[in-house]
Amino acid sequence: MSADISNEPCPCGGGLFTRCCQPILREHSKAQTAEQLMRARYTSFCKQDLDFLLKSYLTTKPKETIITNFNKMFRERSWVRLEIQECVDGLASDQTGIVQFLAVYTTHDDPETEQWAHERSSFTKEEDGCWYFRSSERPT
Ligand SMILES: [Zn+2]
Repeated sequence: MSADISNEPCPCGGGLFTRCCQPILREHSKAQTAEQLMRARYTSFCKQDLDFLLKSYLTTKPKETIITNFNKMFRERSWVRLEIQECVDGLASDQTGIVQFLAVYTTHDDPETEQWAHERSSFTKEEDGCWYFRSSERPT
């Protein structure tokens, strides 16, 4: 069974899914900016696309820990919306970028209460020409 998703809005709020994050989830190199990769990673959480979350993340943390954390978020959270608050660099001509965002979610235990992840994320463009998520901190 396959549903027609051509009119499906992208979870990140950037337009049609087929024209927004879907091409990037299929082909990582299509993220031209840090913001596009950030949006695609948010959409990956909504779609529970573990592969994309892992391949777009450069970290020294143990892979098992990361997978456990992502799976926990998949189980517990229902994502409501993404608000991009600030981008510093991260354009196609840059090598580094910062994206500050608010990702709003509810939990299955408490679906009436909106909670959020408020983060300032760092991205780098590597030699393969792809943007990668590196780390996050709380905005000051
Ligand atoms: Zn999108």
